Amino acid sequence: MSHSATSRMQEHIGDPVSESPPVAREQLEEIFQDIQADMRYDHELNGCLNCGICTATCPAAHYYDFSPREIVQLLWTENLEGIYDAMQEKIWSCAQCYTCAARCPFSNSPGGLIMLMRETAIKHGMESAKNVLRPFSRVMLKLISTGNQLSPDMITADGFADWGPNVAKVDAPLEILRMAIPMPTLHTTKTAWEVNLKTSVELYTIWEETGVLDSLETIDENLFDVILDIMDEKRDDYEDWLDDQDDD
Ligand code: SF4
Ligand code: SF4
Repeated sequence: MSHSATSRMQEHIGDPVSESPPVAREQLEEIFQDIQADMRYDHELNGCLNCGICTATCPAAHYYDFSPREIVQLLWTENLEGIYDAMQEKIWSCAQCYTCAARCPFSNSPGGLIMLMRETAIKHGMESAKNVLRPFSRVMLKLISTGNQLSPDMITADGFADWGPNVAKVDAPLEILRMAIPMPTLHTTKTAWEVNLKTSVELYTIWEETGVLDSLETIDENLFDVILDIMDEKRDDYEDWLDDQDDD
């Protein structure tokens, strides 16, 4: 654990986040229980030597004040204040590359554990989760309303300037790469974004049943309302289509 993180935790025992009001013990316990209750938890955490191999191999640890070793230790020692503290910022530094999982001598998956903490942060509507996900609201709108976001014709040098010179490597054989995608309907935005009504309605049911929409409502109520309207509209369209089939 970095010196600054240790100092912060020592300063705020019983008051884990200096900028926020103190968090009730019951809430800290509830958050930890939610992380632990996930069926993946016991697969991802098998003990911890505190050896630091995960942090040594972690690309994010090179650039941020972030250490997967520290996160795993917090979970392994059931440090509820520290876990809550890490969920305010540090867990969002992970790139989910899972290099750590391939190297850990205990077969832990620090990246997988961090994913569980992120999902729990969303479930509890933490400000950190709202702040991290806010810039992706347009992506989520497109994904949820169409089931797709990216189609191959969007991958162009102009569209992905932030890839730097490497985008040229993608751009060059693009026509061939597109042919490798099995479903012709996914080749362009025009076709990829025209999702079959039945498929859309089935996706909505999956998102409802799996709690995706509950999470969305917790994180972004406005976006949730917009998406509900889209879902209602498409469900009506689908019912009309079914009625037309019956009439025929
Ligand atoms: S999670 Fe694994 S690699 Fe990381 S400190 Fe613990 S035992 Fe070492
Ligand atoms: S999954 Fe996250 S914690 Fe693990 S090596 Fe990649 S960036 Fe680091």
